[in-house]
Amino acid sequence: MSDMDVLIVGGGPIGIACGLEAKKKGLSYLIVEKGPIVNSLFNYPVNMQFFSSSERLEIADIPFISKEAKPKRNEALEYYRRIVTSNKLKIHLFEKITGIRKEGDLFLVTSDKANYTASNVIVATGFYDLPNRMDVPGEDLPKVSHYYKDPHFYASQKLAVIGASNSAVDAALECWRKGAEVTLVIRGPQVGERVKYWVRPDILNRIEEGSIKAYFNSTVKEIRENQLILDSPEGDVSLDNDFVLALTGYMPNFEFLQKIGIHLSDDPKKLPEYNPDTMETNVEGLYLAGVICGGMETHKWFIENSRVHATLIVENILETKKAGISS
Ligand SMILES: Cc1cc2nc3c(=O)[nH]c(=O)nc-3n(C[C@H](O)[C@H](O)[C@H](O)COP(=O)(O)OP(=O)(O)OC[C@H]3O[C@@H](n4cnc5c(N)ncnc54)[C@H](O)[C@@H]3O)c2cc1C
Repeated sequence: MSDMDVLIVGGGPIGIACGLEAKKKGLSYLIVEKGPIVNSLFNYPVNMQFFSSSERLEIADIPFISKEAKPKRNEALEYYRRIVTSNKLKIHLFEKITGIRKEGDLFLVTSDKANYTASNVIVATGFYDLPNRMDVPGEDLPKVSHYYKDPHFYASQKLAVIGASNSAVDAALECWRKGAEVTLVIRGPQVGERVKYWVRPDILNRIEEGSIKAYFNSTVKEIRENQLILDSPEGDVSLDNDFVLALTGYMPNFEFLQKIGIHLSDDPKKLPEYNPDTMETNVEGLYLAGVICGGMETHKWFIENSRVHATLIVENILETKKAGISS
């Protein structure tokens, strides 16, 4: 006999949506989150504004009222926190799941605080915990970060922002407006095509007028205490530098996925194997939900299009359960 019908790993927006759906359909469940509620959103830049409008971030049809059409980070924290507390969802915070093993029909789940058994497990652990490293000398210096928080920190500093995506462009513009001397280092010939259309003209004008210095077709060769060495089409470039924001993207914890038995595609995309109609993986009773489903294609899934995973999974668990009872 298991402790519960379903254990949900990850208390992000999609893990919470799975908990809500399980509760609504009368399944016994528990959400286990290694940080605070919606930990990834908590670690987003303090002034971050979602590119989705609030209704597209809603879960379980619970209205998300925000000041502007596109909500800010703190509004989203409030929204998801209130869903957890007002629905009295069963959630353990600051507890990390470290292992999941199937034995017969049951899953033995271990965390850094307890052991559980469950008939089904949903892995909704996102992709924000592991940055794509540049693997260059000096990347572990204290002046380097893969996470951007607050522009004030970089005021009057020489800041290099590595990357061409929304995160890099938002950070570069915000820090420049707070008085940082910003240099943008971009591997390709231009600013990323997926940069929000309402932000794109801003960064292109700042680069053109010289307010933000940009190096295209360039990569970081080495990071030193007070310098940054770039590999550019004109050869090595040495820049005076105080801080480096390496906003080079993030990736799911593939090691964890493989350790628990989930197959990944044998190509750079590392797509996890699952049935798109039920979200069940190659391990029966083990499901994936949320942005983790995209493997290295982290732009493919977001809250807007992955919140449906909750209903697909719970429906399948209920059907399997019914079939088990009638057989
Ligand atoms: C800067 C930025 C802007 C974005 N803007 C938008 C937008 O406008 N619209 C949109 O739809 N999406 C947007 N996204 C994408 C989307 O918001 C996120 O990816 C969202 O967080 C996905 O929800 P999730 O529940 O799948 O994953 P996450 O929110 O990442 O949640 C996963 C949770 O699992 C926890 N966890 C991980 N490992 C363990 C473990 N072993 N044990 C216990 N807990 C664990 C993590 O702490 C985390 O809280 C944005 C993403 C970023 C980075």
